[in-house]
Amino acid sequence: MAYLNSLEEANQIIPSVLDEIKTEIAPLLNKGKVANYIPELGKVDPMKFGMAVRLLDGTTYQIGDSQTNFSVQSISKVFSLTKAFGVLKDDLWKRVGKEPSGNPFNSLIQLENENGKPRNPFINAGAIVVADVICSHYDEPLNTILDFIRELANNKQLKMNIGVLQSEKKFGNRNAALAHFMKSYDNIESDVNEVLDCYFGHCSMEMNCVDLATAFLFLSNHGVHPISGKKYLSASQAKRLNALLLTCGTYDSAGEFAFKVGMPGKSGVGGGIVAIIPGLLSVSVWSPGLDKHGNSLAGTKALELFTTKTAVSIF
Ligand code: GLU
Repeated sequence: MAYLNSLEEANQIIPSVLDEIKTEIAPLLNKGKVANYIPELGKVDPMKFGMAVRLLDGTTYQIGDSQTNFSVQSISKVFSLTKAFGVLKDDLWKRVGKEPSGNPFNSLIQLENENGKPRNPFINAGAIVVADVICSHYDEPLNTILDFIRELANNKQLKMNIGVLQSEKKFGNRNAALAHFMKSYDNIESDVNEVLDCYFGHCSMEMNCVDLATAFLFLSNHGVHPISGKKYLSASQAKRLNALLLTCGTYDSAGEFAFKVGMPGKSGVGGGIVAIIPGLLSVSVWSPGLDKHGNSLAGTKALELFTTKTAVSIF
């Protein structure tokens, strides 16, 4: 087995590793369950699989359906968090915690026990508080986030899927409950409907694996996007955001994900996962079938195979 020790070795190693992964995950593609609690998401073909790797020097490796758009869902919480962290700095943590929740991503129980302060920014309640921060600081909060995502991904064409957006709004009663509940604890400043429009809007964004890997590159480069040279977070903030991804980024199986994969990453119920290796690369994968925690089943396996076969991980 040839391990990847530096960017220079990537050309020899990554293309064949991606080929092997595609073959090895094939039996898993129909094993997961496509999310259908947002009915529009349930229409996706479960056999889709794509993967993209972007190195800090801009090189891209990709395989399968890496250029097919899909619903990024919770992955978009990383982008809204980046914006809100940039705005509020460490005051953000007065409104939202930094601990794994150990509960389902849309749980109400913990929120009551902890007086309306969400455990972390990646459970729905936390991301709704983050959306509220954006609403308090920008005249056009949703457009601000969408444009920010387009900038990070270097793709002006990115759009929301309006069918998914409508489906989210129609079936988003639990998220509305979370938002109203936090408003009763004064942890939501803006009008609840405005905050939910922003939250549902960024979750319904569609991107492909290459877009997502590109958009996460700044997190593998101390907060500076290596392609544009633009600084989005300080090195210290990027370190902290990556720590949150490792401990809270993959629902309540972040421990299992860290154990198997060894990279900070964020998943979404659309079946996407994006992960990074600081100083080296970002990698994204898409396969719509989910495991019981809400992470892409074949996608998690693909990332595990990637770090096993290349021996790059944060550990
Ligand atoms: N918009 C989705 C929700 O609020 C996000 C779910 C996810 O990907 O975790 O339920």
